[in-house]
Amino acid sequence: LIQLYVPLNFMGTLYREIKQAVTDIEMMFGLLERDPEIKDAPDATPLAIRAGTIRFEDVHFHYNASRPILKGISFEVPAGRTVAIVGPSGAGKSTLSRLLFRFYDIAQGRITIDGQDIRTATQASLRQAIGMVPQDTVLFNDTIRYNIRYGRWDASDDEIEEAARNAQIDHFIRALPQGYEAEVGERGLKLSGGEKQRVAIARTILKSPPILILDEATSALDSHTEKEIQDALERVSRGRTTLVIAHRLSTVVTADEIIVLDAGTIAERGTHGELLARGGLYASLWNRQREADEARARLAQIAEDE
Ligand code: ATP
Repeated sequence: LIQLYVPLNFMGTLYREIKQAVTDIEMMFGLLERDPEIKDAPDATPLAIRAGTIRFEDVHFHYNASRPILKGISFEVPAGRTVAIVGPSGAGKSTLSRLLFRFYDIAQGRITIDGQDIRTATQASLRQAIGMVPQDTVLFNDTIRYNIRYGRWDASDDEIEEAARNAQIDHFIRALPQGYEAEVGERGLKLSGGEKQRVAIARTILKSPPILILDEATSALDSHTEKEIQDALERVSRGRTTLVIAHRLSTVVTADEIIVLDAGTIAERGTHGELLARGGLYASLWNRQREADEARARLAQIAEDE
């Protein structure tokens, strides 16, 4: 029996590893959103991560040759720092994160991590080094504990609960009648967008990758939830090289640098304070969002009063 058990056990582990690698990718962007032509170079080596510095050097990219999406983008995310990408809808923000994962190859330029062109690294090692908190997390039809453990299969129950505490979701889980054993997903408990995002943060805390991509939620959350999520994101990004894809602007205020993307080029760059003082595209995006948020808050207040 032992003879049968060992290979089966091995296959189980292998299956889970493959499933995790594949599902990570699928869950982030959807299987259709990657180029099936992307393969490891014959002499690809595992990425050797030291500090985790990311550089985009004169990056040009198009999905279809007739329509350039990025037109010579250069920026650096120094090790352990946070850079936020903002800009109007369709500017190419999420595209940058897909390129960092090498879901597509670029037409010109280089993307490096600690000086290594990501095209020379194995895709498995690249994806292992990067954690992603997507804006819309897909949960498995399983327990909430399983859904968090997915970040790292060998995590202990204590580690899972600690990750949940750091992700500000532990309170919520403990209040459920079945706690960590509650079933979630399509057939189980439906979690809100903010709760799902905190499960994703807990997963990422368990995975503990040196590089992090935070894809900020597009939709507005209530201000209490937003504050909780921001705190959780701040904890998970501390000390890690972090690229924030900011569809709204709430998480960018404390970024070390903000890159304002417009129609595939960098229109402005600087800190929140510098960009507001400049009174350009960032300032107008910021003001527009503030007005929208204020209007939403007024409407919510009216609804509450009635
Ligand atoms: P948003 O804030 O609305 O999410 P974004 O700045 O993240 O926008 P991207 O998702 O990077 O924008 O898209 C940039 C442009 O590339 C858009 O015009 C989009 O239509 C186009 N695009 C995105 N994905 C694909 C794809 N798989 N094939 C072809 N075009 C695409």
